[in-house]
Amino acid sequence: MKAAAFAYRRVNSLSSGLVQVASAGDTVKVMAGSQSLGPMLNLRLARPGTLIDISAMEELRTASLEGDTLRIGAGLTHAEIEDGVFDVLANHPWRHIAGQIAYRGIRNRGTLGGSLAHADPAADWILAAWTFGAQVEIASRQATRRVAIQDFMTGAYSTVLNADEILVAVLLPQFPAATRWGYYKFCRKPGEFALASCAAVFGSTPASARVVIGAQDGPPRTLDALADQVAREGIAGATPAAIDEALAEAIPGKDPIDRKFFASVVRRCLEQAHGLREIA
Ligand SMILES: Cc1cc2nc3c(=O)[nH]c(=O)nc-3n(C[C@H](O)[C@H](O)[C@H](O)COP(=O)(O)OP(=O)(O)OC[C@H]3O[C@@H](n4cnc5c(N)ncnc54)[C@H](O)[C@@H]3O)c2cc1C
Repeated sequence: MKAAAFAYRRVNSLSSGLVQVASAGDTVKVMAGSQSLGPMLNLRLARPGTLIDISAMEELRTASLEGDTLRIGAGLTHAEIEDGVFDVLANHPWRHIAGQIAYRGIRNRGTLGGSLAHADPAADWILAAWTFGAQVEIASRQATRRVAIQDFMTGAYSTVLNADEILVAVLLPQFPAATRWGYYKFCRKPGEFALASCAAVFGSTPASARVVIGAQDGPPRTLDALADQVAREGIAGATPAAIDEALAEAIPGKDPIDRKFFASVVRRCLEQAHGLREIA
């Protein structure tokens, strides 16, 4: 099948992009790397009247440190993050996460902002943003707003983005070198979306600990009691019973086989965070 007809405009600056999305009406859609939108157009699951191509928007293709906050432009591709093209990302865990997304060809085009805006529950950036305490910066012609990632994704393929808004950047709190972390996902084949995924961070205080599972029916789920227990007791706190209990609470209706996948994925992620398993 081929895409239904649409008007196409390519913009080079954020200001002109915001004018275009504001004036093109409700059927406007922004296009970044087109790795998710492209297939949806061809399957006619998306039928925008106008496509605004933002892939040449340089303001969205930067990464910088602003005080204690790491600001990553929404237009950076997965490959640019993986390659640590910007110095501020050179030693950041997100490089490793980027390298696990799909295949290199998709990573060369797909963007951080496109992935978050698409809000696929199995997407890597959604889980990573949740776990690393991200905020997103969203601009319209009238205003710029910052939204915590937990308030950004409202369900599967659903966010608070309005048609006249563009996701501009992702803001991350600084990541102290001593912070332990893990990221583990189970895919049927390398390069495919995860069937089960888990990310974890353990900072200097128990309050900073987070264990989060992705690949749900909607947004990721946090395993707070497990995070607290592991922060206090180390990997010894990640007993099979503690993991099962955390999953029973977080995903009560899940098929028992799926729960087993998640239990393995959580366990392996926690082992990574404690240096007992290599991070891919
Ligand atoms: C075969 C295949 C395998 C994949 N495997 C994985 C995987 O393992 N893990 C994973 O996480 N992803 C995977 N993906 C998805 C991939 O990461 C996409 O790149 C990503 O989901 C979308 O990014 P994009 O820049 O291509 O966005 P686009 O496809 O251009 O846009 C996607 C959506 O986001 C909106 N949008 C894009 N940018 C903005 C913006 N700045 N502001 C507002 N709205 C915006 C668009 O309007 C559209 O609704 C896979 C894709 C394919 C085709």
